[in-house]
Amino acid sequence: MVKLFETLDAEFMCVTFEDIRLESLHSDILPPDTDVRTRLSRRITLNIPIVSSAMDTVTEARMAIAMAEAGGIGIIHRGMSPEEQARKVWRVKNQRHGRIATPTTVSPDAVVRDVLNMLEQNKRSFRTLPVVNDFGDVDGLVTGNDFDFCIDPGARMNDIMTFQKDLVTAPKETTPEEAYRVMLKTKKKVLLLLDDGKLSGMYLFSDLKDIFKKPSEFMRNTDANKQLCVAAAVGSGDNAFERAELLAANQCDAFQIDTAHGDTKTGIATIRELKRRYPHIDVIAGNVSNGESARRLADAGADAVAVGQGPGSICTTRIVAGIGKPQVSAVYESVRALEGYDVPVIADGGVGNSGDMVIALAVGASGLIIGRLLAGTDESPGEKIEKPDGRIVKYYRGMGSVAVMRKSADLAAKYGQGALTVGKLVPEGIEGEVPYKGPVAESLYQFVGGIRSGMGYNGAHTIAELQEKAIPFRMSSAGLRESHPHDLLHITAAPNYSR
Ligand code: IMP
Repeated sequence: MVKLFETLDAEFMCVTFEDIRLESLHSDILPPDTDVRTRLSRRITLNIPIVSSAMDTVTEARMAIAMAEAGGIGIIHRGMSPEEQARKVWRVKNQRHGRIATPTTVSPDAVVRDVLNMLEQNKRSFRTLPVVNDFGDVDGLVTGNDFDFCIDPGARMNDIMTFQKDLVTAPKETTPEEAYRVMLKTKKKVLLLLDDGKLSGMYLFSDLKDIFKKPSEFMRNTDANKQLCVAAAVGSGDNAFERAELLAANQCDAFQIDTAHGDTKTGIATIRELKRRYPHIDVIAGNVSNGESARRLADAGADAVAVGQGPGSICTTRIVAGIGKPQVSAVYESVRALEGYDVPVIADGGVGNSGDMVIALAVGASGLIIGRLLAGTDESPGEKIEKPDGRIVKYYRGMGSVAVMRKSADLAAKYGQGALTVGKLVPEGIEGEVPYKGPVAESLYQFVGGIRSGMGYNGAHTIAELQEKAIPFRMSSAGLRESHPHDLLHITAAPNYSR
């Protein structure tokens, strides 16, 4: 593991991104050939080390889909009802399928008119429905074509369906790869999975084609069923569990216990209870900013620890409460404390550019939670705003800002404010604006390009190798000035640099 200044403790001085840079080392690898895969948590891998933050101006379903499509993951925020948050998780998980585990079915006697109404009421855009009788046996299948060519709205499924004997079916254990091969061969667009005549799943060719044909597939962050991965925030304490139940029912891959101070009695009890109830779902616990706290969360069963108290661009915790260690030291200390634990550290907040990402990874972070740098993209919630001077911006706010705390006592509790009245809120975040950035995929391309470049300069084939080899050094203020573009009358914009 990289050594971050042996003298640091003696000097009692902590550092953050702009305090340090890395040596350039002998290299035998070009940036495009580096491997940027890493882990979010004990069991969830990432194809790029970038995670979008659980903030209401950063991550809802659209951002989470784009993040997972690019190889990262999004954490859906909890500034909404548990039902709404669970629906957003459902939306991400159902963006693309491998196997549809529980298809919507209809009975043979159902009437066309009623079925179409039911689909519309439930906001379902598909019309491919297995027809299942009262004994649970599959009688047949109806598809969009059957509805399109049916001129009698009073017809029953029995009248318009393709009968089971004319369908291609497969056994319940058929994998997405096997299903794709069968469908290519038989030229059938739907493959029902049967277990002794009973329905046990369904594959659609449109989903599988998308999964297996697109060259970008290797980048997507998907689960074993090829569905996009997604995480979601829960609070700390009792009200976390109702939310967690709905999220789990919608196949959420990971929970983030979203608290400003993770190392508390309630925070630790929440980790234990979530792990007891959902041993199959990884729990990212936090936030902390020192090694002992990180270790306490790992001992309680956390599958990843989020590190960052006060580094966020919209955060005022350090000013309001006087708490929080400069981010690079906080990450480094937590990583050292967790040596031998197999619990990844995720650096949360304060990342200003791809150079900062390289540094956080080099000192041991396994991934980076990012707010500001993603808030200006098309996929973040909220509209673009055109300013009088022609600049286009998007609104970005802290989850501890007054505006967010007013939304619910549960959110205010994150910053210890739940019991106070609205007029007495003590915020730890602010509201602001960030430049509009276009599609998030373009920003991610630049970030990952910068990370690969940093790895190339270090001769690091993998992030693990970067962490072994990197040699950080302290930066003088003149050195920092020299690092940024300087001594020009003005600078033109670059896609990966702004100040
Ligand atoms: P950024 O990437 O520097 O903008 O930091 C985003 C991170 O700041 C989030 O992932 C949270 O950990 C943290 N954060 C979000 N809202 C607040 C707040 O209101 N106060 C303090 N920290 C916050």
